[in-house]
Formats: sequence, C-alpha cells, structure tokens
Amino acid sequence: MSIHTILERAVRGERLSDDDALALFQSNDLTALGAAAHEVRMRLHPEPKVTYILERNVNYSNICAADCDFCGFYAKPWDKQRGYVLPREVLDQKIAELTALGGRQILLQGGLHPTLKLEWYEDMLRHMKERHGIHIHGFSPPEIWWFHRITKKPLTEVIARLHDAGLDSIPGGGGEILVDRVRKQITRNKSLTDEWLAVMRAAHEVGLRGTATMMFGHVETIADRVEHLRRLRELQDETGVFTAFICWTYQKSPDLPLQCPTVGSHEYLKTTAIARLYLDNIPHFQSSWVTQGGKVGQISLYYGCDDMGSTMMEENVVSAAGTVFSLNDQEIERLITDAGFRPQRRNFFYDPTDEPRRPSLTAAA
Ligand code: SF4
Repeated sequence: MSIHTILERAVRGERLSDDDALALFQSNDLTALGAAAHEVRMRLHPEPKVTYILERNVNYSNICAADCDFCGFYAKPWDKQRGYVLPREVLDQKIAELTALGGRQILLQGGLHPTLKLEWYEDMLRHMKERHGIHIHGFSPPEIWWFHRITKKPLTEVIARLHDAGLDSIPGGGGEILVDRVRKQITRNKSLTDEWLAVMRAAHEVGLRGTATMMFGHVETIADRVEHLRRLRELQDETGVFTAFICWTYQKSPDLPLQCPTVGSHEYLKTTAIARLYLDNIPHFQSSWVTQGGKVGQISLYYGCDDMGSTMMEENVVSAAGTVFSLNDQEIERLITDAGFRPQRRNFFYDPTDEPRRPSLTAAA
C-alpha cells in the first residue's frame, strides 16, 4: 500500500495499524507526512491557535538510586559534592519567582532518592500547596514506582496520598522507549514498561491525569518506536489518562555513557508527524523546542503539534546533557504568531488562562 493511501485514511479519522506506522517510517516524504499530521491536528483543534503554559521546572533533588546512560542530571547517593536536596526556603523562592511573573504551575521532579520517606514528599507537597496555591505537575512514573517500592504500599494508595497532599497531575517523564529490551540496555534499577504504565493506570483510578512522552534516537529500532506508541494508545483507550504527548530526540553529549549516531530535525519532525497520525486518542501534541530549538519547534506546529509546551523557566535535566535552547514567553508568542497562529496561554487541562501581562520571563539554561 502506498503511504498516500495510509495518510488519506488517517486524515479521514481511520485508526492506523502498527504495519501502517512501520510503512510510514520507511518513507522519507517528510512534506506528505507533515501535511497529513497537520490536517489531523486541524480536525482535532480547528481554531488557528497554539497554546503554551507559564511553568517552572523545580528539581527538588538530583540524588538517584537508578543509573541511566543518557542522564547527566543525577548524582549517586554517595556523591556529597554534587548531590542535593533543596531546602524549603529555596523551593519557596523558586515558586515565588514564578508566581510573581504570573505562572501558576510547577513541574516538580527529582531522582529516585534512596532514603526519603513518603511522608517527606507529602510534607513538601502540603507546604507548596498551602503557601503558594499552585498546580503541582509532579513525580514521573519511575519516581512514583520507586515510592511504591520503598513503602511497599499499593500504587493507588501512594498516589492517593500524594494527591491528598497537593499533587495535581503526573508528567510522563522516564518513558524513554516502553520496550523492556531497550530499557534494560540503557537504564538500571528503574521501572520497566509495565510498571511505568501501571503508574499511569493507577493515577487514572485515583482521578489524576498525566502526559505521555517518548525519547527516541538512541538504541531503539523503528519497530520499538511503534511498539511504544501502541502501548500508549492501548492505555489511553483503557483510561483516557493522557492529556498530551511530547517526544524528543536523545541529546548526546561526550560526557554521557550512551553514545550513538545523532538523530536530527528530519527524524524529529517525521516521528512527531507519524505519532500524531497513529495516536488518534491523545488530544494534544507538544512541540519539543527545548531539544530542537525555536525554529524547528515552530516548524513542528505544521507537523502535528498544537502546543508549544512550557516556558521551561529553569531547565536542569536536558541542559545537564548539553542542550542549551531557551525561550521566554514573549519569544514563544512571537514564534507562534510568525507561524500564523494565535498564541494562547493555558493551564494543565488546556483551558485558556488570561494572566495579566507581567515582565517577560528570563529563561535559564
Ligand atoms: S533519568 Fe531519572 S531515574 Fe535515570 S538516572 Fe537520571 S534522575 Fe535517575
């Protein structure tokens, strides 16, 4: 079957099979893939607007008991020089800086800390919620699986306790490629595929929503990428837990153990477009300008993305691997406008928000 027949079916709203996705990956007709993905995006979101969120990354700790070959962010538990746990005053200061600029959401993430108790995380959440009243988008599935491991309590109980303490939604970090052969090759002591998915299933049972991610362009095959997308689509059919999907390419650095051929913007745009065509049940697609830069991020708005993600005020994880792209809110709005769309700030649930205009954010990294 020609890829044009597959693309026409996707544009009409027909669900693509794994074989269809594999056939699309064999094609290098980036323009045709992008045009079809954009048609699907405009069918799902007909208004000519592109959303983004004012958000700050807060990495409460970098101490981690796992060992990922692609991560330049973490410190081993015994590394007293590099390892940190942020004190309350520093957390407060970071959040106060965000709220002063009109931001109402933090992305809260850390490593898999070997000794902190669940009560410590509950106290941190309660403190942030009571003092700042912000939306806390926090703890990737590997972190929550870790809490489940160390407390030996059911996942739903762990998530319900975190939710009661102030957790509002769960980012889909640590998904990488949801194929165990790949995960075992590039990570150690970190949740495997079924465990990652079990966290998101449990989040749905507790009444929380989250996002889905994919980091590609390392040791995985194209078939692995398709399997990853299928596992996400199956869980979304079952739960509807995901609000959005975001994918990015592995950011290689000479300092990292994971060395492989670099994957560039062509592969990023192609994979984004195919994912948009295949993941017919995930409503929103975020651009990954943090790894691709503003210009490719802007182009991705014509390859299936309807959202520019967050301002990423203070990005520590990707930048630790050597990526340096940063944009403030005015630059994001300019990129959206120049691409022919209307910028719209949003909250986690993609509801429009109209925070008063404040001085522009100065992004770190
Ligand atoms: S990616 Fe996450 S789990 Fe892996 S080493 Fe880094 S902080 Fe730890």
